[in-house]
Amino acid sequence: MVGAPGTGKTSTLVESVAARVAEGADPASILVLTFGRRGARRLRDRIGARLGDPSPFSARGEPVVRTFHGYAFGILRLAATLSAAPTPRLLTGPEQDLVIRELLVDGDDGIDWPEALRPALPTRAFAEELRDLLLRAAERGVGPAGLARLGAQHRRPDWLAAARFYNQYTEVLALRDATTRAGVAYDYAELVRAATALLAADADLLSEQRRTVSHVYVDELHDTDPAQIDLLSTVAGGGVHLVAFADPDSSTFGFRGADPGIVNGFPLRFRTTAGATAETVTLPVSYRSGPALLAATRRVAARLGGPARHRRIQARPGADPGVVEIRTFRSATSESAYVAHRLREAHLLHGVPWSRMAVLVRSTFLQLAPLQRALQQAGVPTVTRSDVLPLQSHPAVAPLLLLLRCALSPERLDEDAAVALLHSPLGGADPLAERRLRQGLRALALAAGDRSPSGVLLVEAIQDPAELAAVERRWARPARAVAGLLAMARAEAARPQSTVEDVLWAVWSASGLGGRWAAQSARGGPRGETADRDLDAVVALFDTAARFVDRLPGARTEVFLDHVFGQELPSDAMAPVADRGEAVRILTAHAAKGLEWDVVAVAGVQEGLWPDLRLRGSVLGSEALVDVAAGRELGLVGRVAAILSEERRLFHVACTRARERLIVTAVSSGDAEEQPSRFLDELAESAEDVTPANLPRGLTLPALVAELRVTLAAPDTPDSRRDAAAAVLAELARAGVPGADPDQWWGLRELSDERPLVDPGEAVTVTPSTVDSVRRCSLRWLLERHGGSTAPSPEQGIGNLVHAAAMLATDASVDRASLVSYVAERFDAIELSARWLAGRERVRAEAMLDRLIGWIAKNPRRLIAIEQDFIVRLQDPEAPVDIKGRVDRLEIDDEGRLVVIDLKTGKSAPINADVVEHPQLAAYQAAVEAGAFAESSETGGAALVQLGIDGLGAREQVQDPPSMSDDPHWAVDLVKGAARAMAASTFEAVANNRCRVCPVRTSCPVQGSGRQVTDP
Ligand code: SF4
Repeated sequence: MVGAPGTGKTSTLVESVAARVAEGADPASILVLTFGRRGARRLRDRIGARLGDPSPFSARGEPVVRTFHGYAFGILRLAATLSAAPTPRLLTGPEQDLVIRELLVDGDDGIDWPEALRPALPTRAFAEELRDLLLRAAERGVGPAGLARLGAQHRRPDWLAAARFYNQYTEVLALRDATTRAGVAYDYAELVRAATALLAADADLLSEQRRTVSHVYVDELHDTDPAQIDLLSTVAGGGVHLVAFADPDSSTFGFRGADPGIVNGFPLRFRTTAGATAETVTLPVSYRSGPALLAATRRVAARLGGPARHRRIQARPGADPGVVEIRTFRSATSESAYVAHRLREAHLLHGVPWSRMAVLVRSTFLQLAPLQRALQQAGVPTVTRSDVLPLQSHPAVAPLLLLLRCALSPERLDEDAAVALLHSPLGGADPLAERRLRQGLRALALAAGDRSPSGVLLVEAIQDPAELAAVERRWARPARAVAGLLAMARAEAARPQSTVEDVLWAVWSASGLGGRWAAQSARGGPRGETADRDLDAVVALFDTAARFVDRLPGARTEVFLDHVFGQELPSDAMAPVADRGEAVRILTAHAAKGLEWDVVAVAGVQEGLWPDLRLRGSVLGSEALVDVAAGRELGLVGRVAAILSEERRLFHVACTRARERLIVTAVSSGDAEEQPSRFLDELAESAEDVTPANLPRGLTLPALVAELRVTLAAPDTPDSRRDAAAAVLAELARAGVPGADPDQWWGLRELSDERPLVDPGEAVTVTPSTVDSVRRCSLRWLLERHGGSTAPSPEQGIGNLVHAAAMLATDASVDRASLVSYVAERFDAIELSARWLAGRERVRAEAMLDRLIGWIAKNPRRLIAIEQDFIVRLQDPEAPVDIKGRVDRLEIDDEGRLVVIDLKTGKSAPINADVVEHPQLAAYQAAVEAGAFAESSETGGAALVQLGIDGLGAREQVQDPPSMSDDPHWAVDLVKGAARAMAASTFEAVANNRCRVCPVRTSCPVQGSGRQVTDP
């Protein structure tokens, strides 16, 4: 039976089985074979439901529904039982990996791998390639000798070596089975071949099998491989009633060995007992999609090549035509928001239940998380099976695995890993906390003369949390948590007999996430949904770990991590998944096979992602082996064409899941970065059908409330419209919708606290540099002080380095070479915005040193101290002020007066007129006069020494002592004024010449980019 998607192949199969049973066939003699465990379970359920439960035939047993592998394993087990041998067992992926990797690590020992491959032998990727090659060979019935023959024929020394390895591998397995007295261990690929060989060699067993099977049905024939067809031929070849169902356009598991050519060859291979070719029946009617949908998917199928009769299907009479929408967007965010909008629209306006909608993607690894977030934010309930995403990619599982990896291999804890752990639920840091932690660590390190970049300090602090003791507790907390969990994982893994389950459990229990997520789950809402999913993923991780420990009791945690990180596809885990009720499913096109929904969105159809034309198994040529074994010589171009066909079939599968509405979306970013897939054009009737889309108005309550509030506040809204908006808002407010009640509008609320920042009588601490910033704009100072500052610029890093070098320059006899080498040794620790700037910046730093040396040579004053800290109080009973800071150089002039020198490394300098009242210099002079330094309280002025201005020597800009001014108290008054501004209850935004580079301009009321929350 050949039929396009939706023509009722599986229904026909189910009805055929029911008809045979109704005719009196023994249900237990009906064998139904299919592909994949999930497919088998679905088919078993449908047949069970059709026959009724309890069925009148249940006394006679039930039809046997199995995957090919399950059936083959059953035969091997039966044979073992009959011969009283130990039960055979299935060698799992990790076991196979372990054996292969151990053999590879053991060395070349007679294998003679080609020279070019030797460096790759210890890598996990090579072990995977090799395993893939052996799997494909086993499926094709190519043993070690056959592989060697093909290697010689096709001049592939890698296959010759792989054949020798294959021999060694099978010998090791056989030896293991013999020495452990366990049953024979079969790997997944050889299972089917082994069962076929056993039946061929054991006539009694074969006739017993044939006697118990009267009818054989095969679903999804297009996904079978040659080994499965050989088994089918052995079991059903004796004249039993055999019906196979297939859609050649749905063969999408080529990478697992499926061969689409099997469908066309089937009638010849499975002839009638009279020798005629098997009859082929084509199913002509689509019961799933209407004419418009069929026309679109037929356009894609038309490019697939091969026989086309099964594609000429009609919609059932009276079927709704269906809708196809193909849309492109400027960004992935708009794309996800659009998909979410369409699904909500279908649910709210057209009454489509959530569970009758799905979003299909090519790769969950790349696309799942952002899509899920967008749908959740828009209030679309979603469900993703924990087995849709490879385990290591689950947002909840990835940090746990990363933590284990860093605990067991400390060299893997680099800056990226540290940041990922800090931001994960295990650390719980946000970007601000990370920045504060970096700043805190850097300040501590600088104080100790260590100029390492903050990334290095971060890693060191997580490795040795003693460093964190001096960092403010709330910023240090995430790093402490991560450091504690790392230590715990290490300690647990070091315990004798400890398994990966124990290590995971220790970390999981100590993290406290279980309780937190369970509480969130109980509260429901979008957060509850996320928590549900996270808990499911963690359950799946523990399930995988438990199975791993069962299979490989002695294996170390590192082996488990290798195994999990090696998974590119979701495991076939059967861990329980909590029931989410009504929800939209998000799944891969592969996982969607055999399913259908009213509304289907196929999202992220990008060129490069779908089709994904990367050659699989290209190092050892496993795909080439498949072609060679099938007698095809495809070459590189042919193999790429075969992949393109398979990708197109997969896209066809995705699009044919829709019953009523198909929405296909992609990003077209306008540059070469993101291009829609060629498949969009193939699906569309004309180029105009692929249209750029704008986001329609959100169909969520928050979007409605926002729009009503804008309408209400906009000055040009007509009165009638404003009244209508107010009336709807009032109604929503009565219904308790958040944001509708004016009492909840931030802009209308009373200030939460009107008290001044510093209580009256309490000392205000002023640093010379804050006097400058507070006087310029007190709002900026306030916001920067409370989290709005940016990370130090690379220029500041170079300035700090020059300042540090300047500490060595005590007099004119300073050795230039020692200053230059001081800078050179530390230069690489500076975090430059781009590495290519390094050469230029280094030359600039050396030029600054030259200017410093030149300035010192001409400086008539005597040096007293370098980098001298001070703190001094300006006595004022009403408002005491502490001036606190550090001077770059403290010098004494020939009249015994102190002169403070501030070295500047910036590229610009104030004009001399501004230096007269320069606030920072004024604060230094006020500090000298208040007695900050023991040597004298008489100031001889203060000066900026500009080292960073190109083309000049150092430029000294002097501020006279206040005593020389008409108002000798002006400097002290300036500092007191700044202190008053800092202690106030209101802070003023004062536009100035630095607004352009102000880091808090988006929160500033005098800037266009910052608005009041009440502004429309
Ligand atoms: S943008 Fe200008 S006025 Fe606004 S806070 Fe920044 S410095 Fe002050």
